[in-house]
Amino acid sequence: MKTGYRREHDENWKTFRLSPGLLSPVLLAFAGVCAAHAGGLKYWVEPCARPAEMGCKGGDPDLAQWAMEAWQAASDGKLHVERTAEKNQAIIKIYWVSRRAGLYGETRGGDVFVRPDPGEGLLREATVYLTCLHETGHALGLGHTAHFDDIMYNFQYGGDIAEYFARYARKLERREDIRKHPGMSQNDRKRLAAGL
Ligand SMILES: [Zn+2]
Repeated sequence: MKTGYRREHDENWKTFRLSPGLLSPVLLAFAGVCAAHAGGLKYWVEPCARPAEMGCKGGDPDLAQWAMEAWQAASDGKLHVERTAEKNQAIIKIYWVSRRAGLYGETRGGDVFVRPDPGEGLLREATVYLTCLHETGHALGLGHTAHFDDIMYNFQYGGDIAEYFARYARKLERREDIRKHPGMSQNDRKRLAAGL
């Protein structure tokens, strides 16, 4: 069940609020990486090596990559991301976790944990993609908002959570359409630009 999402996620968010320094090392390292290498911000995505255990599907790492590329596209050229197979070179690391019941995702500094949705079809793809987008947004330094249109919206403000994912899924005819629909709002873009 997903009802625990709010509680666990909020607790995680409180941790961020109490310890804003958790976020800054990522941004500082990111700035350093950008200055030093035109290649940009390196990120690593855990391969879905054990689907039954990890809850992921073989194509989920692509969804994480599309999320990172969507942030890059939203940054007006300020953010350059580069997927690396070398975990120890990555500033942002995206992991698949299945055992944290009630949690969509969680981010601690540059470590992003995504719980893949157990469902099927485009709604499942949409949910995993949007979760990747939200959590990597945290890794890039973005906090929550109270605007239902934003990808950085916090469910603690209420609203129809199922509809939050379904409205995005309705834009898709096939999985590849995710690349045409980044999923963030104008406000998310503005906040990203302000932080870069
Ligand atoms: Zn969040």
